[in-house]
Amino acid sequence: MNKSIKILLWIVLISLLLYFVFTLIAPPIVDKDANKVSTNPPYTASKKATDLYNNLDFVGDLHCDALLWNRDLTEAATYGHVDFPRMQQSNVAFQAFTIVTKSPKGQNFNENSADAFDMITALSIGQGQRPSTWFSLFNRAIYQTNKLKKFASAYNDKFVVVQTKKDFERLLEKRKQDRSVIGGLLGVEGGHCLEGDIGNVERLYNAGVRMLGPTHFFDNEIGGSAHGTAKAGLTDFGMKMLKEMGQRNMIMDVAHSSDKVVEEVLQHYKGPILTSHTGVDGTKDSYRNLSDKHLKAIAQRGGIIGIAFFSGAIGDTGIPGIVKAMKYTKDLIGVQYIALGSDFDGSVTTPFDVTGYPLLVEEMLKQGFTPAEIKAIMGENLKRFLLENL
Ligand SMILES: [Zn+2]
Repeated sequence: MNKSIKILLWIVLISLLLYFVFTLIAPPIVDKDANKVSTNPPYTASKKATDLYNNLDFVGDLHCDALLWNRDLTEAATYGHVDFPRMQQSNVAFQAFTIVTKSPKGQNFNENSADAFDMITALSIGQGQRPSTWFSLFNRAIYQTNKLKKFASAYNDKFVVVQTKKDFERLLEKRKQDRSVIGGLLGVEGGHCLEGDIGNVERLYNAGVRMLGPTHFFDNEIGGSAHGTAKAGLTDFGMKMLKEMGQRNMIMDVAHSSDKVVEEVLQHYKGPILTSHTGVDGTKDSYRNLSDKHLKAIAQRGGIIGIAFFSGAIGDTGIPGIVKAMKYTKDLIGVQYIALGSDFDGSVTTPFDVTGYPLLVEEMLKQGFTPAEIKAIMGENLKRFLLENL
């Protein structure tokens, strides 16, 4: 063999080896750094709050990005926010798993360019995902749907992927006998993963996705983001997406949408509408958060509001801030529209991981919520919404 070819082969081999080692070492470091808690578990709440929490029938949350990371969700991790064993350990019945396919570096809340460096490209390559996900947003979405299904089947009937009302009823039925049965639903953050092909709505649906939001951190082919440059409304392609989603009665998630998109969705979308993770302008005024007007309009449509747990949505006040946003929303539109929208594992710091919910209940009691109201917010409202809309 020619000497220079030999050297080239060695270089390729060593590079591949280094890449392989990198994919083992780097992802947990990035994950740990991105998804922190302000206080580490184990958590201790008052006896009253703990008893009340442990007796809740159905605890559920509308938003987590756990599928983004290189974690086996069937095993309890010592970092990050949520996985199956930690859900079971802490009386959680249901979690929406939302898929992120593109995220601009910095995740600026006020303005991001769609051309900013994409962190998810780096993550896909760095995690050693198959190359088909490196440059295709749609493939990334499908890859993550497959991940949840694989984890579910490895969990031997203890995890139900909820795609239909029947699935959801089966989950509720099973939990009557066995509290360790849990479930989840697939959602997607941003229609950019359609890659401009309207047929991909049906493909996502067939892959199990039941909730989809128009935009994420930047303006896309669907319309304006709350954090984009133009704050524009829906495009023609966006209107087509609404139609495709409506035909399948998919859940429309207006989190991260520009005000104009929220308004146009409320006007034109015929299917179920919610916001999976948000704060409210009433306690923290921000592009990211919902105005009184939009809170009322979503409630009027029978939608629910998932209150997020991170400071960007609720202010730097930790658990009291989360409950304050809930209280404001309750006083404005009524308790029946409020749900949990943690944003666990969404590259945010939260006050606690999924095992810390009793602390939230404790603060809710402190701020004057009744046990019946707590029950509604912790999951019953979400249960009702899913039974009505799946
Ligand atoms: Zn988000």
